[in-house]
Amino acid sequence: MESHDVLVVGGGLLGCALAYHLARAGATVLLIEKDQLNRHASGQNAGSLHFQLEYRMIRHGRHVAERAAEALPLHLDAMRSWESLEDELGEPCGVRRKGGLMLAESPDQMALLAEKAALETARGLDVELLDAPATHRLAPYLSDRVVGATWCPGEGKANPRLATHAYARAAGRFGARIRAATRLTALRHDGRRWLADTEPGPRVAASAVVAAAGIWTGEVAAMADIRLPVVPVALSMAVTAAAPPLVPHLIQHAGRRLSLKQTDEGNILVGGGWPAKFVQHAGALDLDARPEPRLDSVFGSADAARVVPAVQRLPVLRIWTGATSLTPDQLPILGAVPRRPGFYVATGGSGFTLGPTYSRLLAELILGESTALPIDDYSPARFGSVNFV
Ligand SMILES: Cc1cc2nc3c(=O)[nH]c(=O)nc-3n(C[C@H](O)[C@H](O)[C@H](O)COP(=O)(O)OP(=O)(O)OC[C@H]3O[C@@H](n4cnc5c(N)ncnc54)[C@H](O)[C@@H]3O)c2cc1C
Repeated sequence: MESHDVLVVGGGLLGCALAYHLARAGATVLLIEKDQLNRHASGQNAGSLHFQLEYRMIRHGRHVAERAAEALPLHLDAMRSWESLEDELGEPCGVRRKGGLMLAESPDQMALLAEKAALETARGLDVELLDAPATHRLAPYLSDRVVGATWCPGEGKANPRLATHAYARAAGRFGARIRAATRLTALRHDGRRWLADTEPGPRVAASAVVAAAGIWTGEVAAMADIRLPVVPVALSMAVTAAAPPLVPHLIQHAGRRLSLKQTDEGNILVGGGWPAKFVQHAGALDLDARPEPRLDSVFGSADAARVVPAVQRLPVLRIWTGATSLTPDQLPILGAVPRRPGFYVATGGSGFTLGPTYSRLLAELILGESTALPIDDYSPARFGSVNFV
């Protein structure tokens, strides 16, 4: 049997970043990943670094937006983290921060943006409400349908194919052991430590276990006899052929699903929460199967051309799908599970943008340090009412 201080379950951005922070602080760490590192959400996402509240957070009324705004201190921290990440990890992660616009096409959407900007500026985010002339001066590539926007100069993008691996390599330099093609299959606590069965082996003993397992986090928590409302959501993305430089900014929309950006190579990435469909067997979701694309989402993504007309005639190279974890209250689940000593969870929405922050704060907690920002509001303890054990 192997013995480590911390067993991290999941080789996405959160797991690899956790392994890095823990190993750097001197803990002995084993990370296991059932497939390949970065194979799931962390490598499939849109790479948006969005620090403004997202469409899914503002479309369900003020109450939901206010709840989501409670996490803005994490957004501010994440903005600083991405700024210095490439220097810290010693390799490129494709970080480009040329600012982001959230667009409005109607007076109602402008009102929503004004409310959103008030919530954000009250919590310290640098966001400005722009009228139509100011928006078009800043972004002449937008269609005349756009009547205004909020502008957040700190927003941008990073490359999802680079960031997780950069963290994993940095973790390795500090001695973390990283094992792909190794699945956690069972967990029990012997009163002193966690004993983990892995497939194909070996058995691992660890003082602490972290479930950083994306859409499978609920399954991993269930191995410790804990129920968590981790909601798997299947999404689709589209990418066009490379074009000359058109769009330097990250584009989002206040009234519809949209995220749009141009990669360094010139491809336009279009996403923003367009749903895909989980494969089902006998009514149960198969989380291991690649979600199926939906035609209505393909058309929906194509509608990006109504606000950025220049993308209309670009050839579509590829549609792909992926799956991410959300929670019912839009906040991450980050922290220690009550009555399960040494069992921690890290998951939740916007995990690419906020992953560097989630992982650093959780590592501080695991190491017994006081966290740089309060994280009690994100604790798994808030779901105590569905855990009778
Ligand atoms: C299409 C799409 C677009 C997105 N766009 C953005 C965006 O632009 N900006 C943004 O901030 N966020 C975005 N997200 C969300 C973001 O990608 C995720 O929140 C983030 O990547 C989650 O990282 P993670 O490490 O928690 O999960 P994952 O990357 O899913 O990693 C979890 C890992 O755990 C492993 N695992 C599970 N169970 C076990 C087990 N029993 N044993 C061993 N390993 C296990 C899995 O194989 C997986 O590799 C998007 C997501 C999708 C799907």
